[in-house]
Amino acid sequence: MTERIFNFSAGPAVLPVPVLEEAQRNMLSLPGVGMSVMEISHRSKTFDDIIHSAESGLRELLGIPDNYRILFLQGGASLQFSMVPMNFLPADGSADYILTGSWGKKAIKEAKRVGAVNIAATMADGGFTRVPTKEELNLNSGAAYVHITTNETIEGVEWKQEPEVGNVPLFADASSDILSHRIPVEKYALIYAGAQKNMGPSGVTLVILRDDLLKNIPENLHTMLDYRTHVENNSLYNTPNTWGIYIIDLVCKWLKEKGGIAAMERENEQKAQLLYAAIDATDFYRGHADVDSRSIMNVTFRLPSEELEKKFTSEATAKGLDGLKGHRSVGGVRASIYNAFPRDGVEALVSFMKDFEKRNS
Ligand SMILES: *Cc1c(COP(=O)(O)O)cnc(C)c1O
Repeated sequence: MTERIFNFSAGPAVLPVPVLEEAQRNMLSLPGVGMSVMEISHRSKTFDDIIHSAESGLRELLGIPDNYRILFLQGGASLQFSMVPMNFLPADGSADYILTGSWGKKAIKEAKRVGAVNIAATMADGGFTRVPTKEELNLNSGAAYVHITTNETIEGVEWKQEPEVGNVPLFADASSDILSHRIPVEKYALIYAGAQKNMGPSGVTLVILRDDLLKNIPENLHTMLDYRTHVENNSLYNTPNTWGIYIIDLVCKWLKEKGGIAAMERENEQKAQLLYAAIDATDFYRGHADVDSRSIMNVTFRLPSEELEKKFTSEATAKGLDGLKGHRSVGGVRASIYNAFPRDGVEALVSFMKDFEKRNS
């Protein structure tokens, strides 16, 4: 198959075609280098330029202030579920976690192995359909940090605005909405994100952390699990995912050409709006998330029966609309429409939805 289909997968997910084309052109030899990026030393001048370019690209796109460090780690966002509390949840302290979906649950599970966790709010009872209101938050002003998941990829529930946490450092798992819209980085002390949703291939995890946190890290951590190791070595303590960092750099350049995050945000909102309007236009489709918490990256909805959902996703796949099956834990349909997902793919899905409803209601 040489034709590309519409890939609605939640992750690893669609990448920009110009990025794939450039990677393809340079697969055998980076210009002037005579070797693939996968074949060069991570300590070479060539790779040093690539990792610095990726870092400055992210810094510029996200407006990351100078007192924040940028790390490219491995182990996925899932390893951050452990590293965050190991580094920042002290033995005599506690951390606040706000639970809005499946990934937050996994973060909490690991934090509890390290120390005391206060669930400052949980949206589990409603089936994770929204973020909590200010009044629903039971925050502890002495907490070591507050942890949120900015976008719950499985449920399609997204924070539209940071919770107010006073002087407590705000930490976020932003795996599935980083680079999708503007964020005030200075409101966060730490942000982490696996690359494979909206930034690049799997195998790299971006960590953005504020300098002053580093002094709180205990002395007894394993070297690889201590953020200071990676800060002191510019993410080159051991061999990083060189290929992944190279692709992130290309994605940043593509984003800048597209007009940066503000332009991306407008496009993403329009794409999401097309889909939510199609869902709201009928009772045949039911959106999972409450209107105010709807994700612009992962659009989740149900059909009148599981049987119809199965039929929907398999017919869609046959039409080149792939990856629409909801996560196995919640079912339904999920359309992931990250930055690189084209608007005509969203339009194709909307017209398929209308046609499917006509034939099945
Ligand atoms: C995908 C995802 C994860 C898990 O990422 P891995 O890189 O597979 O560990 C964690 N959090 C969120 C919000 C995700 O979307």
